[in-house]
Amino acid sequence: MSSKATRRGLMLVISSPSGAGKSSLSRRLLESHPELTLSVSATTRQPREGEVDGREYHFLTREAFEKRRDEDWFYEWAEVHGNLYGTPKGPVRETFESGRDVLLDIDWQGAQQLVQQEDSDVVSVFILPPSMEELENRLRKRAQDSDDVIQQRLAGAVAEMTHWSEYDYVLLNRDFEETALELDAILRAERQRRERQTWLIEFTKGLLKDS
Ligand code: 5GP
Repeated sequence: MSSKATRRGLMLVISSPSGAGKSSLSRRLLESHPELTLSVSATTRQPREGEVDGREYHFLTREAFEKRRDEDWFYEWAEVHGNLYGTPKGPVRETFESGRDVLLDIDWQGAQQLVQQEDSDVVSVFILPPSMEELENRLRKRAQDSDDVIQQRLAGAVAEMTHWSEYDYVLLNRDFEETALELDAILRAERQRRERQTWLIEFTKGLLKDS
């Protein structure tokens, strides 16, 4: 029996305020785990420079987003910084149900909705910045957003951070390499949970029979 076909996938949810390093950490995790699938969300926000439709996001008009939302197209959806964001149900279900793991970069509202629906299949991680000064610096360095947007995101960051205690794991991102290792360790450990390794029932039967 193939171990891959009979394992139970997990949904690794990562949340943090903008600028805490979540995107870089997600990218690093995906690079070292090519078998991990990133859930590409839909959003009504404008693409930033370098963002490609279908890669970072599916960029939709508000009208198109609301139509899909009403057709129950999303696993979860939320309004963040005045824009709508949602996780398309189809690709996530397909990946997850075939025993593969999905990475979701979503906010606390989305994390809550997923936990309500999938509970033990969700592993949630919150990334905290080392300080508010550092968070502001990182947002400014990115310089892709206007001053107004940066101020709005800082205010949003405070609101987002009040939800840290709802997550399974909390990482303080002082040092990127260190935090990347910690995130990697979480994924590796969570994969070894007994209930996710459904193939072990048959495997251990064989193992014990041979002894
Ligand atoms: P950004 O506009 O900087 O790419 O993302 C803004 C925020 O929206 C981030 O905190 C990100 O995690 C969140 N976000 C992105 N996609 C989704 C989604 O599909 N659902 C929810 N609930 N939040 C999302």
